[in-house]
Amino acid sequence: MLAMVFIYGLVIGSFLNVCIFRIPEGVSIINPPSSCSSCGHRLYFKDMIPVVNYIANKGRCKYCNASYSVQYPIIEILNGAFYLMVALKYGWSFYGAVYCILVSLLITESLIDIKYMIIPDSLNIVGAVIGVSIIIYDNSLIWDKFIGAAVGFLIFSMLSFFTGAMGGGDIKLMMALGLIFGVKGVLFITVFSFLIGALVCSGLIALKFKSMKDKIPFGPFICMAALLYIFCGNELINVYLKWIW
Ligand SMILES: [Zn+2]
Repeated sequence: MLAMVFIYGLVIGSFLNVCIFRIPEGVSIINPPSSCSSCGHRLYFKDMIPVVNYIANKGRCKYCNASYSVQYPIIEILNGAFYLMVALKYGWSFYGAVYCILVSLLITESLIDIKYMIIPDSLNIVGAVIGVSIIIYDNSLIWDKFIGAAVGFLIFSMLSFFTGAMGGGDIKLMMALGLIFGVKGVLFITVFSFLIGALVCSGLIALKFKSMKDKIPFGPFICMAALLYIFCGNELINVYLKWIW
């Protein structure tokens, strides 16, 4: 069963690669069918088996020999690994299914933000739809979710206003995450996005990948904090509460 979940995650990961390249370009994610970005040769199902094809063809197009980015297999494996983790933590449940979709959304948003410095509205709408479906499924926490969205909006609007480091995409992403996780989740994600951001940025600068003047997108840090909340948010909050009392 877990192997099936992992393979399913790889296949969806392969679709995420298509989304990451096409959504910012405004190209439909279903049509035209996948083709090699170098020679334009149509890729058939047998050419698109996740990871396996990449390794078998040594990361090259089998028609024109152009090399493919290592991003493809990495995204596939990452998505497969996250699906496995969601299955282990949430099992065969409503939240298991919803969090798989959310994890894929967070991966896609992170990669698009890193490459293009934007978070497309269409993806944040998917996030809001996930939030609304959780509210409909578990209608005991309606106010918590709406206040969560409002808190996400307020905190990040103010940060955007005073620092200029965040854009509209980050604000909308935080609103969607507020709908999904409620007030506690939004506060957790805010704090951890800054901790992770500080850690990653100082690492990138220390290793000279980036300088102080470079613009580094903030969306991926929000997404990483949201992933952390999915997998160990409550555990970390409990440790923190024990520590301050
Ligand atoms: Zn090719």
